[in-house]
Amino acid sequence: MTITDLSVRRTWRSLPAAQQPEWPDPVALRNVLDELRSYPPLVFASECDQLRERMAAVARGEAFLLQGGDCAETFGGVSVEQIRNKFKTLLQMSLVLTYAASMPVVKVGRMAGQYAKPRSKPTETIDGVTLPSYRGDSVNGFEFTPHARTPDPERLKRAYHTSSATLNVIRALISSGYADLRQLQTWNQDHVELSPSGRRYERLARDIDKALQFSRGFGIDSEAARSVEFFTSHEALLLDYEDALTRPDVITGELYDLSAHMVWIGERTRQLDGAHVEFFAKLRNPIGVKLGPTCTADEALALIDRLDPDREPGRLTFTTRMGAGKVRDLLPTLVEKVSASGAQVVWQCDPMHGNTISAPSGHKTRLFDDVVDEVTGFFEVHRALGTVPGGVHIEVTGEDVTECVGAGTTNDDLPLRYETTCDPRLNRSQALDLAFLIAELYHR
Ligand code: PEP
Ligand code: MN
Repeated sequence: MTITDLSVRRTWRSLPAAQQPEWPDPVALRNVLDELRSYPPLVFASECDQLRERMAAVARGEAFLLQGGDCAETFGGVSVEQIRNKFKTLLQMSLVLTYAASMPVVKVGRMAGQYAKPRSKPTETIDGVTLPSYRGDSVNGFEFTPHARTPDPERLKRAYHTSSATLNVIRALISSGYADLRQLQTWNQDHVELSPSGRRYERLARDIDKALQFSRGFGIDSEAARSVEFFTSHEALLLDYEDALTRPDVITGELYDLSAHMVWIGERTRQLDGAHVEFFAKLRNPIGVKLGPTCTADEALALIDRLDPDREPGRLTFTTRMGAGKVRDLLPTLVEKVSASGAQVVWQCDPMHGNTISAPSGHKTRLFDDVVDEVTGFFEVHRALGTVPGGVHIEVTGEDVTECVGAGTTNDDLPLRYETTCDPRLNRSQALDLAFLIAELYHR
């Protein structure tokens, strides 16, 4: 029996899968999945391998991992401008980090596939009307009507095509030289230029420009300064969709989920006896698991046994999201026990999901200070233990939204540009502020 036999591939189907939509018509779903299976992959296995190697460098402390993007991408959010702004935000953050930490930054977008959301409640009630919760554009619509909120499997095809369109824009931006470091001044010619972090970035960009000119004067004109490596990722929540895009490598026969370079398991679907862990165990991609404050060290160790039995550096990323008030208490035991097990995981801090609160206006928000505090605690813990603070995972957009409070946005600003369909994101100016603060943490 080879690993590609369907019986092995589909073992997850006999296990409970949390957070799956209730599709109204199983035949329609089956037809959509058959069609998806006939589509070309969105990424190539060799690209996933390359990211796994980069992640191994992160695990060893030789590179920093920056992962970010929307909580929930939307089918409407695929204009070149929106994609470019998000991409640019991540590039600018990574430039700040590279320059400050003198370390390569591995850049991974929560982009081109982040269309499915786990929800704490299956239904939502507004003014006495109860409808299914919004589960992301790949499942149902955000609009609060019975029609929009009914899961529609045709949306899975749209998720594929929208991911493909997004990837096409990203690949075209890269190949047309947008990420060329000689252009880095032009990345900042808009409103952010006027903010304190924008001005700080401006100074840094000038310094880098001078350094580049200096190197070129010596005849050192690095190819690496002209292009960028950028990878995509999302929470692989909908196992039917992910399975349909999972393909065996033509040479090795190993399975890759080719809907993205990296995929992760969310906090709500990491049950050891559940379908998600079983599905991920079969994949060769670099993978992640979110770990919230209830995660015990024994659970983390069991996850390693299932997902990284060979203890391969770069294979597994643990993305901790404890909350600013808990990270200093809860993280040390996890890190100590995992290190003692011999696993070389990437430790990544998600300073967003443990710090979500309700603003007086009722908006779901996050305080910038809490975000900074959790990242600071994460660095402190790793410094004290002598382990590697590998990277951060953030919810961010390139637009000038007002969704998180602090660093230029007040509670009163929240209604002005609150555009997320799910969790609140940092705007570009807040993202740059965060990058400068992380850069400082490196030098403490
Ligand atoms: C998310 O990343 O949007 C998310 C739902 O996170 P978590 O699984 O950590 O709650
Ligand atoms: Mn989120």
